[in-house]
Amino acid sequence: MNSKKINIGVIGSGHLGQYHVKHYKSMNNINFLGLHDSNPERGNEIAKKYETKYFENVFNLMEACDGVSIVTPTESHYDVAKIALNEFGCNVFIEKPITETISQADDLIDHAQKNNLIIQVGHIERLNPALKALEKYDINPKFIDIQRLAPYTVRGTDVPVVLDLMIHDIDILLSLVKSKVKSIHASGVSILTNSVDIAHARIRFENGTVSSVTASRVAKDKVRKIKIFQDNLYSTIDLLLEQTEVYNITKDPNIIENALQAEPFPIDNEKKYIVYEKPKIKNYDSLREELNNFVNSILRIENPIVNGIEARNALEVVIKINEMILEDLK
Ligand code: NAD
Repeated sequence: MNSKKINIGVIGSGHLGQYHVKHYKSMNNINFLGLHDSNPERGNEIAKKYETKYFENVFNLMEACDGVSIVTPTESHYDVAKIALNEFGCNVFIEKPITETISQADDLIDHAQKNNLIIQVGHIERLNPALKALEKYDINPKFIDIQRLAPYTVRGTDVPVVLDLMIHDIDILLSLVKSKVKSIHASGVSILTNSVDIAHARIRFENGTVSSVTASRVAKDKVRKIKIFQDNLYSTIDLLLEQTEVYNITKDPNIIENALQAEPFPIDNEKKYIVYEKPKIKNYDSLREELNNFVNSILRIENPIVNGIEARNALEVVIKINEMILEDLK
C-alpha cells in the first residue's frame, strides 16, 4: 500500500465536513476522490467550492475509497461506518463522538478488527499544540482540574453538554491518567435548553488520581483550561490560547539553567529549585494534522492518535456522567 497513493473521500459536508474536504483536497500524497452529502444541494455547493466531485450515491464513493471521513450527525455515524467497514473494506475517520451507544461502538470496533481496518475518531483536542507541549514531561497527575465553558450557540445543543463539550476533556483525562476509572460523581442543571447545559463530574481513578471536570454552554467567554498537580510539578494548559506553563521542583542543573525563572525551594536540605518554564508551542493546524495521521494510519506508517477503543472508553464515561446527572435531577 506504501507505493501507491490512497483514495480518500468525505461523507457529510456540513459545518465541519467542508474543512475535511478543504484539507484533503490540498494533500499531495493522496487521491482525493470527492464527497457525498445526503443533501445534494449542500454536497454540490461544497464540491464546486473545492473543485472536486459530488457523489450522489455514497456506496460508489465508499467502493472507490481506501478511507473515508464520516462527518455526518452523530445519530448516523454507526450506520455509515458499519457499511464502509463491512461492505466496502474502507478505513474510517469518524468525527466525535464515535457513536450514540457503547454497543454500537463495540460493534464497529469488532468489524474493524475482523477486517483489519482502521477506526480513527476526531477527538481533535488531543492534538492541541498546548497539550502536545507536555509530552516532554513525565506526567503522573494526582489531581486534575478541567474547565470548558462556552457561550450559548444553537449548534450542538441537540445533545447534553456532556456529550457535546465534556467528551473532549474526558478523552484528554483518560489519555493523561493511565489507570481505570474507579468512581464517578456527577451533577448538572438545565438553564437554557431541555437538556443539561452545565455539568460537573468528580472522577477518581484506581491509581488514586482525582479529577474535577466542568463543562458549561452558558458562559460569557470561552474558557478551556487544564490544571495538573503532581509530585513536584504543577502545570496549566490553556487549550484556547495554546499556552502551557510548568512549575517544576528540581535539582537538575540543566533544567535550572534553561528555565525562565528559578528560585531556591526552601524545603529539606537538598539544593532544590522551583523553576518556571513555558514550553515552546508548535504552530500547526490540528485538523490537518489529524487527517494526515489518518492517511498515515491507513498506510501503516503511524497509529491513530485516537483509535476506536479510546473513543469508546471516553463515550462510556460521558454516558455514565450523563445518566448520573439525569438521575440526580429526578
Ligand atoms: P452539520 O449539521 O453542519 O453537517 C452535517 C452534514 O451531514 C449535513 O450537510 C447533512 O446534510 C449531512 N448528512 C446528514 N446525514 C447524512 C448521511 N446519513 N449521509 C451523508 N450526509 C449526511 O454538522 P457538523 O457540525 O458538521 O457536525 C458533524 C459531526 O462532527 C457531528 O458528529 C459532530 O458531533 C462532529 N463535530 C466535531 C467537532 C470536533 O471538535 N471534533 C466539532 C463540531 C462537530
